[in-house]
Amino acid sequence: AKSLGKNNYQYYNEELSINIHDQLKIEQALKQAISGDELYLNYQAQYDLRTKEVISFEALVRWDSKKIGFTPPNIFIPVAEDTGMIVEIGDFIFEKACSDFKKFKQINKKLQYIAINISTIQFRDKHFVSKIKEIIKKIDILPSQIELEITERYIMEFNETNMLILDELRALGFRMSIDDFGTGYSSMNYLTKLPIDIIKVDKSFVDGIPKDNNNMQISKAIIALSKSLGYRTVAEGIETKEQEEILLSLNCNIGQGYFFSKPLDYDNTIEFLNKKKFK
Ligand code: C2E
Ligand code: CA
Ligand code: CA
Ligand code: CA
Repeated sequence: AKSLGKNNYQYYNEELSINIHDQLKIEQALKQAISGDELYLNYQAQYDLRTKEVISFEALVRWDSKKIGFTPPNIFIPVAEDTGMIVEIGDFIFEKACSDFKKFKQINKKLQYIAINISTIQFRDKHFVSKIKEIIKKIDILPSQIELEITERYIMEFNETNMLILDELRALGFRMSIDDFGTGYSSMNYLTKLPIDIIKVDKSFVDGIPKDNNNMQISKAIIALSKSLGYRTVAEGIETKEQEEILLSLNCNIGQGYFFSKPLDYDNTIEFLNKKKFK
């Protein structure tokens, strides 16, 4: 699948490689993404598996480009990272997610936090921490109402400076989570030393439940290990009732996936929250 069309992106996997021509096209088009008002966020609900209540949302960026059409994040985020544009885009996402969350919380007071994906390139921006401190002050939202998701692969490439930033963010009260856990190869020893709160079991393992016994056992082991280290667990990509039940029985804390809800745009998230009639 080489086309960047809306209906074709299912064929790409996460490790996709795009050709130079597409890369340049995306790069050119991305330059006007922010100024042209082409970026927006979707929100996917996260459920407490025990109480079945919505406790949070994950912000997922969307790009409807006037030049090249709708282009999914798996395609454009890597380009934004290569070119450094992710810094500006990341700031935009962070601010928008925080201010939208405040509105969501007015409808449902029980919402605990908004999960925001952070790229490793943003960690290299020396103004990153001061900028997000400024944004949360302006919006008037607490660090404890924000979860920062960093993929395991990124964290494993962290240098000492990156690690210090991670420590600093945690000390400020942000919730930290490791995304796509199990797809990198972190050692157990490493895991005990990270300043984190949540581990997200990668969708590829959840997909294999219940048919693939290896994936079952890996999910089980990740959840048990996380629990014993004092971390909470999120299972992503839950698509069936059976997966939900099994993950609950494995003591996974939080569930996310099409079974519960697809990512929704702002208006539909508001409608979703109103429909649920939270007190
Ligand atoms: P991720 O952070 O692992 O996000 C989960 C992806 O799985 C999302 O894809 C979501 O729409 C999809 N998903 C959730 N539940 C299900 C399910 O039940 N079945 C299936 N088949 N898929 C499900 P999306 O939104 O296309 O994002 C893909 C990746 O792009 C994300 O993976 C993340 O790595 C990156 N990304 C998305 N938004 C942002 C962002 O705001 N900033 C950064 N830096 N990266 C982002
Ligand atoms: Ca994520
Ligand atoms: Ca993930
Ligand atoms: Ca992923």
